Amino acid sequence: MRVEQTEILIIGAGPAGAVAAGLLRKQGRQVLVLEKEQFPRFSIGESLLPQSMAYIEAAGYLQDVVEAGFQYKNGAAFQRGDKYTAFDFREKFSSGWGTTYQVQRAHFDQVLANGAAKAGADVRYQHQVVAVDVAGETPFVSVVAPDGETYRVNARFLLDASGFGRILPRLLDLETPSAFPVRGAYFTHVEDNIPPGTFDRSKILVSVHPLHVDVWFWTIPFSNGRCSQGVVARTDFLDKYSGSELERLRAIIAEVPTLSGLLKGANWDTPARKLTGYAANVKSLAGRNFALLGNAGEFLDPVFSSGVTIAFKSASLAAAAIDREFQGETVDWQADYAVPLKQGVDAFRAFVESWYAGGFQDVIFKPDQSVEVRKMISAILAGYAWDRRNPYVAEPWRLKTLEQLCAV
Ligand code: FAD
Repeated sequence: MRVEQTEILIIGAGPAGAVAAGLLRKQGRQVLVLEKEQFPRFSIGESLLPQSMAYIEAAGYLQDVVEAGFQYKNGAAFQRGDKYTAFDFREKFSSGWGTTYQVQRAHFDQVLANGAAKAGADVRYQHQVVAVDVAGETPFVSVVAPDGETYRVNARFLLDASGFGRILPRLLDLETPSAFPVRGAYFTHVEDNIPPGTFDRSKILVSVHPLHVDVWFWTIPFSNGRCSQGVVARTDFLDKYSGSELERLRAIIAEVPTLSGLLKGANWDTPARKLTGYAANVKSLAGRNFALLGNAGEFLDPVFSSGVTIAFKSASLAAAAIDREFQGETVDWQADYAVPLKQGVDAFRAFVESWYAGGFQDVIFKPDQSVEVRKMISAILAGYAWDRRNPYVAEPWRLKTLEQLCAV
């Protein structure tokens, strides 16, 4: 069998893998990215958070992303019955980017992966990693190439950025269940035909079901007159509907007068997809000469659009730790990677739990909310979940107190 050698091997060319590749190339590392699909390919996760822009910039991809023509985004709007509230991310507690984009992921992921290749990473499409061995002195993987040939790659360090593929968690038995109940989503893209001036296209709209506080919908406008439209609910709720995925999605949307009104002129020209049981966790985020990035580690929930930002953050922390390790320093991957990553994930987790219980919804729809508190919430919704100067990051339990103050 043919055997190759590289310094850094990255499994997956999604957001985590592409940003890790860019950051590591800036350190002068030899980087090989193995991606099982041919890009462009569909992926979900289309609403970015402003915090993610810092990582896109650090990886060297900012100009390419800005020039790609994606929909400008400056905030998030929420609708429940006749209540509506909007957060402008430029008005936030933390410093940093206040705007970002809503992106068709097929295009966005291609832009990032092209950026990695331009920076000198060897990015190979349709090369699927089928086996991994991290037991020896250095890790190696077995790969199936598009022509069916199987070859082996030895690496000094292995980054698993395989997303829901979850290569290392599955092969090394690192999987552990998420604490969240099993939820699922139906989603599609539509030609929305929303009359200009009646809808703020620079914000994601999150609508809550009028009868079920834990059932919600995303409307993510793109720059081409189309929207990503999806519903998230527990799988037992979704299973009550019949027909195709698109028919089920439309039947649930029909129960929400504000949303069905907004989409009354929509052309539902694309079949819907279904994804269930995506919340996932692992026993450990790193081991000797390997680390898990993005969704290959923990995935919480889509409600605050945090997935890509967390994927980028993990890539940034791992690249910094690899840099130190390759320069001969001793890196404690638990203390230097897993713990700092988890701090932000835990801040998001408190907000996600509060969202589904309804408490966070009472907080944001409260009409006379303090401006300072709204700025702190806005910062977290903008992705600044690692800014420990924000009291709701440093002490996530504070959210419970706020909920009690705002309880309807
Ligand atoms: P991925 O994007 O999944 O990339 C992994 C790559 O690895 C893929 O290209 C895959 O083909 C490749 N791969 C897998 N197995 C192998 C293998 N064996 N060999 C080689 N390559 C392999 N996030 C947001 O930020 N905003 C949102 O609005 C949002 N909405 C969401 C809605 C839903 C319903 C869900 C479920 C998630 C949503 N997310 C959102 C989360 C987002 O999709 C993910 O967090 C994000 O894509 C993670 O990036 P990643 O690079 O870790 O993994």
